[in-house]
Amino acid sequence: MSTDNKHESRQRAVVDALQAIVRQVQRTECEGEVELAPIELQLSLRLDPSNWSLSCPEPLNDQIARTLTAIHHEQVSHTSGRVTCFQCQSTHCEHALPPSLLDVFVGFSETGRPLWSHLVQALLDCRTDSVDRLYQGVPISTWIPGAELNKRVMKGFGKKSQVFAVLGQVIAGYYFVKLGEELERLALTFQWVRGPGGKQRVQMVMDPALRDEVMLQLPWIAPALKHAEKKINQSRFKGEAVMKRLASDVLRRPRRDKRSTKHAVARRHDQRPVDKAIADALEASCEKAYLDLKSNTLAIRGRSGRCHIFNQDGQHVTSFSIESDAVQSRLNRKRWQALPKSQFLDFQSRLRASLQSG
Ligand SMILES: [Zn+2]
Repeated sequence: MSTDNKHESRQRAVVDALQAIVRQVQRTECEGEVELAPIELQLSLRLDPSNWSLSCPEPLNDQIARTLTAIHHEQVSHTSGRVTCFQCQSTHCEHALPPSLLDVFVGFSETGRPLWSHLVQALLDCRTDSVDRLYQGVPISTWIPGAELNKRVMKGFGKKSQVFAVLGQVIAGYYFVKLGEELERLALTFQWVRGPGGKQRVQMVMDPALRDEVMLQLPWIAPALKHAEKKINQSRFKGEAVMKRLASDVLRRPRRDKRSTKHAVARRHDQRPVDKAIADALEASCEKAYLDLKSNTLAIRGRSGRCHIFNQDGQHVTSFSIESDAVQSRLNRKRWQALPKSQFLDFQSRLRASLQSG
């Protein structure tokens, strides 16, 4: 055997031994699987040449377990916005994110798998009042305590996890966001979670691919989450109280939107989307108004290709620009239909009334 080969086979023996220890530690001591990526191991060993004995100031198992746990914590904390699935030991399996835009988190299964449910069902299950308002396009929210979310989980499947625990959450919706060409209804889950090292965070559960777009269109949410997380980490605030406050903050559009007076609207015309939307809607003729059958909202075409969406209560939901052929396509697909004149006049007078009372 050449020197090179000898060297290689010895190294192979060390690798095999280390691999065996890593696998065993992963099976028995680590909470959650470390995803396969190169691991940097720093081991402390002492070799005594007098009798060629090897000793470790700390058992090798413990040294490796510490490294793997630290890596795992880091992996988990870098995937905020997801729910840890204790069944798959992953934040990247299909269970870690809601299966559709309308789903919210409703707890863990017996084996620690995240469970999801349509917002309407979830609200009914926790006996929320005024669920019918959802059908008028008015968003609602509710607080769900951690005990409720964790009640099914069996021991050993994430119960009392030191890596990820949902201490409570707020579910809310429907929001209206434009994703691609379509205006979509969106349900959201805001979780108060405890992460590695006991660190408490407030996270919005969401596919990272959608996050930026959603945050852009619902700009009051990020500051509300940040505020809640800060309050929760100031120990004198009780998490539950903070989260209940968050439940209304995530719904609230900036106060001035509601309080706009006619005068203020005129003054700020062309400055803020909501003012433009109201001005356009009051000016529009009936032929420019449509009922969006999918989201049960009103779509009003304004000047310069603008399109404004209002809920049935006359609250402005969002605005975007739209081409004539996109309008035609919505009509052809029966996504939109012409709004009956009486309904449109009704809507305009409600809009005027809300301005005067504001
Ligand atoms: Zn899973």
